[in-house]
Amino acid sequence: MLNIVLFGPPGAGKGTQSERLTEKFKLIHLSTGDVFRANLKNETALGELARTYMDKGQLVPDELTIEMLKAEVLKHSSPIGFIFDGFPRTNAQAIALDDLLASLNTEISIMLALEVEEEELKKRLLARAEQSGRADDADAAIIENRIAVYNNETAPVKTYYQGQNKFTSIQGIGNIDEITQRIFTALENIQA
Ligand code: ADP
Repeated sequence: MLNIVLFGPPGAGKGTQSERLTEKFKLIHLSTGDVFRANLKNETALGELARTYMDKGQLVPDELTIEMLKAEVLKHSSPIGFIFDGFPRTNAQAIALDDLLASLNTEISIMLALEVEEEELKKRLLARAEQSGRADDADAAIIENRIAVYNNETAPVKTYYQGQNKFTSIQGIGNIDEITQRIFTALENIQA
């Protein structure tokens, strides 16, 4: 299986690049943010719980997030592989993901970390708010909070994958096709 962690701060382009990867490699795209938003829309109990955290730009607690992600992974029988987008966001999530994949006799193949500087992220998120209608994109204070949470709680997950020699940095500035090409090159290198 090809299992990719697509990593990066809010606004780095994880969703956009996931679409390209899904198309090329026929992988299953699992975005924890998308699953939470679907639950909000359908007014499920999970959605109600997640809402309080998402509205403030905080992380949904690990226990809830991990349980939800496990259920999503286990929905698929004999997949070619997964793109994990927005997960793991803490070391506890990374450990839980390794355990889950080990129980399926597989593992993470690579972490692709999209690197984009903060000023650019803020611009992109405010622009995205115009189309997405996402409340957490429209408010500068919530954006600041999400970036701070990323720096404090999520960025350390890079070290976890560096320890497994799976960390790959991808320059996330440039046009979308160029960035896709950088990702494809990184994947050719691991598959070679
Ligand atoms: P972005 O990457 O643009 O911040 P996402 O769609 O990935 O947006 O996530 C939106 C929100 O959903 C996050 O701010 C957080 O509240 C919640 N969320 C998504 N994934 C996770 C996760 N792995 N752990 C905890 N909370 C999460």
